Amino acid sequence: MKVIDYSQKGIVFDIQKYSIHDGPGIRTIVFLKGCPLRCIWCSNPESQNTKPEIMFRKNLCIHCGKCVSICLNNAIGPQNKYWIDRKKCISCGECVNVCPSSALTLKGKEMTVEDVINEVKKDETYYRNSGGGITLSGGEALLQYKFAKELLKACHAKGWHTAVETEGYISKEVIMEVVPHIDLVLLDMKTYDTNLHYKYTKVHNEVIKENAKLIQSMTRTIIRIPVIPGVNDSVEEFSSIVKFVKTLDNVEQIHILPYHNYGENKYYLLGRDYLMKDTKKNKEEHLNNLKKIVEDNDLICQIGG
Ligand code: SF4
Ligand code: SF4
Repeated sequence: MKVIDYSQKGIVFDIQKYSIHDGPGIRTIVFLKGCPLRCIWCSNPESQNTKPEIMFRKNLCIHCGKCVSICLNNAIGPQNKYWIDRKKCISCGECVNVCPSSALTLKGKEMTVEDVINEVKKDETYYRNSGGGITLSGGEALLQYKFAKELLKACHAKGWHTAVETEGYISKEVIMEVVPHIDLVLLDMKTYDTNLHYKYTKVHNEVIKENAKLIQSMTRTIIRIPVIPGVNDSVEEFSSIVKFVKTLDNVEQIHILPYHNYGENKYYLLGRDYLMKDTKKNKEEHLNNLKKIVEDNDLICQIGG
């Protein structure tokens, strides 16, 4: 019997229930903080930094000044453009506790494996009846790999299906250690061209391609391609990704993830700019053409995750 460290801690920024995406059946998605990539279209910008972060909803603020008074680091005040000086903020959450209007929230909190299991087991019946389970997402779900590994082991001990969404920018050692506890990997491939990958995510992708080969040899793997207008949506670039996936013997499916801007407002709440502003959504006809490219390569394709 495997020993599970239920006291292992991680930083979790959200737990979403009753998801019918991101794996089979009805699932609970556990979102972990931290990501080595900086995709400019990221729909979870609050996931990127490893430590918890303050979100500030200006429209809810009643200018009572309680947050300014309580912050010992002078990290919050009306003189700052976004009210929060994020270089000074230590994410203590004191301002959140005193804010009377919920204008401030802290995204990310430390949880043990036991804490997460206690939360997600409330929906155990749904997993059993639907063939669902738990999906770890992020951020890069495997950045906090020690926590992820113990959590996945704990899920397996309960008989739950496990899935992990990953960017694949992780070490081989982590893959060897954690993937044996994953039933399904949802692996993002954003571009084939490595310079293009660097331009829009701030990392090259040779490591990701190598890891894709390894991961798909170890467990069931679905490749997911976010189709980003002006980045990777040309027939040429998309076809290159598909041809690469075709060389991976055990990948039978590609999921096309259409671009959306659902995360835009979160950039503003974090005091950041959204660089994809005014980007138009993909045309349905174009997405269908891309789907046909996948199917012409004898791979199963679906639009959506
Ligand atoms: S989280 Fe703490 S350090 Fe950051 S702004 Fe609020 S009170 Fe200040
Ligand atoms: S405590 Fe909340 S409502 Fe009061 S000034 Fe700060 S953010 Fe605004």
